[in-house]
Amino acid sequence: MQSITVLGATGSIGASTLDVLARHPDRYRVHALSAHGRVDELAEACRRFKPARAVVGSADAAARLAQLLVGLDIQVDHGEAALCEIASTSDTDTVMAAIVGAAGLAPTLAAARAGKKVLLANKEALVMSGQLFMDAVREHHATLLPIDSEHNAIFQSLPATYARDPQRAGVAKILLTASGGPFLKRAVETLEAVTPDEACKHPNWVMGRKISVDSATMMNKGLEVIEAHWLFGAPAEQIEVVIHPQSVIHSMVSYTDGSVLAQLGNPDMRTPIAHALAFPERIASGVAQLDLTDMAALQFYKPDFERFPCLALAFDALRAGGTAPSLLNAANEVAVQSFLEREIGFRDIDRVIAQVMQDLPHGPASSIEAVLEQDALARQAAHAVIARLRG
Ligand code: NAD
Ligand code: MG
Repeated sequence: MQSITVLGATGSIGASTLDVLARHPDRYRVHALSAHGRVDELAEACRRFKPARAVVGSADAAARLAQLLVGLDIQVDHGEAALCEIASTSDTDTVMAAIVGAAGLAPTLAAARAGKKVLLANKEALVMSGQLFMDAVREHHATLLPIDSEHNAIFQSLPATYARDPQRAGVAKILLTASGGPFLKRAVETLEAVTPDEACKHPNWVMGRKISVDSATMMNKGLEVIEAHWLFGAPAEQIEVVIHPQSVIHSMVSYTDGSVLAQLGNPDMRTPIAHALAFPERIASGVAQLDLTDMAALQFYKPDFERFPCLALAFDALRAGGTAPSLLNAANEVAVQSFLEREIGFRDIDRVIAQVMQDLPHGPASSIEAVLEQDALARQAAHAVIARLRG
């Protein structure tokens, strides 16, 4: 029986994870669940999965949750220290890291430092901490399995010996597929005026609002390029983004002998979640089998960096190294939030990020403290740029 902590249990990835877990009560037991504010939904999940612990964002939310769970033997806590505790306790073997944004860094890192099996959905945590996170995984013998569908596909398309001996694998390129989001074909000059709801209407996936906006700007793919760099030790030149609007091929690896290996499937996050949960075995995920004969043509295009300047900014940050990706990530989080609150326009998102990257010098990412300090500075700078844009 594997014991699991689900961080971000009320989110889109959290819900898909609980759906897969519910199919296999003989294999998995839920130790802890977390959510930020959606107390009613978390209470519902607690009644269903009966975890030993539940963690929310504030004392107020904790009091409300405790009230909803009266009579059940569930310890309710709040705040970052409690998140780190449920991610690192000896009572859990596996941690699903599905908090959105930088807020997930501390607990995800705590899980890695405790040598857990870490199922990584929270790409922002890895983008921010890069080398430091990968060092923690190695040093503490954690197992890191990617949940992001592209990285899970790449992981499945690489040989099992890759982590130990990447040189001999003969990888020529990592081909990271991207749907292109809702604005792939929309006239560029109309992008200034798109609304948050239009930006969140993804053609193939139903996801949280932050990652949905990231998909519309293609910053999501930019963050994924950086994620792929760290997960697979690939330099920027070895990672190629390929637009594939149907999201059936979830990514590919091309090899020096001319072979290309891909992972295909219906666009449903329960497939990578089930893959990582059961790895190296396979279990049912609830996802329908792919019917190739039922499919329209599969298309592939080169990305347009002018339509999607965020993708270019992310490649720049990866090449710059050090704390540049954490500046990029923090500025993006602030800009996306501000766009979702209708304070700035869609195209202002890339303007804010570019300005912050230009104004703030990046340094070496020598410690988590240095990374968090840069993150805080970038947030401040982004708010200042937004105030100017609105003013
Ligand atoms: P979501 O917004 O649906 O859910 C986010 C979860 O994090 C919620 O449970 C929320 O309560 C919690 N949370 C939010 N702010 C928090 C804070 N400050 N402190 C603690 N908890 C907080 O997001 P999602 O779409 O499920 O995405 C989660 C992560 O997975 C993101 O990093 C995203 O990039 C990644 N991801 C998502 C998908 C997808 O299909 N949704 C695919 C690939 C990767
Ligand atoms: Mg993805």
